[in-house]
Amino acid sequence: MSFPTSTVYGPVKSWRFGQSLGIDPIFHISTCSFNCVYCQLGAIQNISREYKEYVSTEQVVHDFEEVLKRGEKIDVITYSGSGEPTLASNLGAIIQAIRAKTPHLPQYILTNATELGSKKVQQALRLLDKVIVKVDAANEEVFQKVNRPAPGVTLHSVLENIQAFKHSYDGEIEVQTMLMPMNSKGLMVDLAKILKHIGPSAVQMNTPKRPYPLEWQRENRGNHEGIFHCEVRQIKGISEAEAKLYLEELRHLTGLPILSVYH
Ligand code: SF4
Repeated sequence: MSFPTSTVYGPVKSWRFGQSLGIDPIFHISTCSFNCVYCQLGAIQNISREYKEYVSTEQVVHDFEEVLKRGEKIDVITYSGSGEPTLASNLGAIIQAIRAKTPHLPQYILTNATELGSKKVQQALRLLDKVIVKVDAANEEVFQKVNRPAPGVTLHSVLENIQAFKHSYDGEIEVQTMLMPMNSKGLMVDLAKILKHIGPSAVQMNTPKRPYPLEWQRENRGNHEGIFHCEVRQIKGISEAEAKLYLEELRHLTGLPILSVYH
């Protein structure tokens, strides 16, 4: 098995966005301000909110140019990778460099929103076409159980950050929600209140379809096939029937477009 040495991975097929080319501004070890129970990276090695340059802009641009040479179909650029991309202090510079090389490609980010209150992060994310924020919990207890954040991070602080960001951003905000039995049963009314307050253009409702790898391997970035070269643990997701019920309930309660991985 070869160990990926590029900060750019894919393109991988996304059920929402087509052929998505991933950019990983974290890269060296998994670093995130969350440690979600279902994370495809496995247990996060560095649970942190440290804002710094993790990998140089030059390296990312070089890796991006190498991928472009392959001439594959790319529909969208997505910032994600080995952790929380907004922890990278050079994210804005990377976005600008990639925009200059491929101005026709939309650029999105997947973020857990812990840093969206920062002016520097807001400035970088304003360069993007779409910001997809993670909201998995309807209350603080569930948040701590599912997202297992860095010390001091609360659901309240994350939701406040999203509001602060919303006021500074003209692009589209979507919400991504990972539903499992532990964060869904009896919680739709509270979740709907949160979603309504955020007011995203759409909500993507997912459920874990891949097992949880027990160790970090870089190839787990964008691993949509769920094939891991290490020990894994199965994560209990919600069934298609439950997803349909929740989808209808959330649509009814929020009036928002709710999209499910099952439909
Ligand atoms: S926020 Fe994303 S990268 Fe971080 S632990 Fe959760 S799923 Fe993994």
